[in-house]
Amino acid sequence: MEKVIIIRYSEIHLKGKNRGYFERVFGINMEKSLKGIMHEIHRQSGRYLIEEFDAKDEEAILERLSKIFGIHSYSVGLKVPTDMGEIFKAAEAVCSESGTFKVVTHRADKNFALNSMQISAEIGGRLLSVNRNIKVDVHDPQFIINIDLRENGTTLVFNKFIKGAGGMPVGTSGKGLLLISGGIDSPVAGHMIAKRGMNIECLHFHSYPYTNLQAKDKVIELASLLSGYACGIKLNIISVTHIQEEIHKKCNGEYMVTLLRRFMMRIAEKVALKCGAQCLITGESLGQVASQTIEGMTSSNAVVSKLPVLRPLCGFDKDEIIERSRAMGAYEISIRPYEDCCTVFLPRHPIIRPTLAAVEEEEAKLDVDSLINEALKTVETYNL
Ligand code: ATP
Ligand code: MG
Repeated sequence: MEKVIIIRYSEIHLKGKNRGYFERVFGINMEKSLKGIMHEIHRQSGRYLIEEFDAKDEEAILERLSKIFGIHSYSVGLKVPTDMGEIFKAAEAVCSESGTFKVVTHRADKNFALNSMQISAEIGGRLLSVNRNIKVDVHDPQFIINIDLRENGTTLVFNKFIKGAGGMPVGTSGKGLLLISGGIDSPVAGHMIAKRGMNIECLHFHSYPYTNLQAKDKVIELASLLSGYACGIKLNIISVTHIQEEIHKKCNGEYMVTLLRRFMMRIAEKVALKCGAQCLITGESLGQVASQTIEGMTSSNAVVSKLPVLRPLCGFDKDEIIERSRAMGAYEISIRPYEDCCTVFLPRHPIIRPTLAAVEEEEAKLDVDSLINEALKTVETYNL
């Protein structure tokens, strides 16, 4: 009797002829995620088995599996040869000490002498005969003993389905560049898009020394967290200090955030094209703050010409975003109180509904191209 973890994948099923490709990427992602932990992964029709791991690593494996997109559900179970005596021993091992239960059997191995109903009845009966504290309840049982007879002469026995992260395997939907701040929203946006199967690279802008080094560490920490979901992330960090100083010096202060946003988007598009990303991703949510009105988005969108900008949070309320942030484990990091570059030189009354003409007029006071080229030279990268 061997302890195994059974992994069932989700939407991959739907992908018809791409199925083989999706399964391959999924397998690679699992290997990446479990790197450093002793184990073997084997594929059986429609599922993966993790075997030959050390009992002390079980928790760590489950924690990593909880972040892998494409997993529909997983179970810790026992693998035994398909033999009623062995199956019973495994069922006894996963059976609770007391309570109501039922046995559910799936039989992929159609050659086995008993059918599913007969196996369930036989195993259930034997369990009852050795434990007086359990009772059958087929309608509303407190626990279920699942018996899964595979085609290859082995049977899996388990008592729980753990819900997986869902989504599609990262790497099956291309690559996007996430503009990540230290705030709550952008890590959530990255998480949502990674869940749709996209590889993520990150870009963060800082205004050191106006913003401090803790602000940078916070972003590294957020990107590392996201990396656990996105199967590895490269983080680019670029300084916009000089750009902000120039805007402050030469332009109407009310346009600080609006103009800075346009610089960010232009730089982001260049970084994206260079690293092979096919879109930009932001954490903007409609109407959330002054720069996120539709006019603000029009203004920042106008400078991106080659790539689409994905704004997965656009229709969410802040509390919905916070809920997702907590669920992915980012919230406690995001709320640490370090300044973001957007709060540097912030005017008392930022422009809320900028017209494109007015923005362009302010921007004309700056040497946009050379400021961008200079900023691009400040890039630092981290592989997380
Ligand atoms: P967040 O919670 O993600 O910081 P926010 O509610 O503070 O978002 P804004 O500051 O208006 O909103 O930023 C909107 C989006 O612009 C962010 O979600 C992010 O994608 C991008 N962005 C803002 N600041 C930065 C930054 N310093 N570096 C990279 N991207 C940024
Ligand atoms: Mg922010």
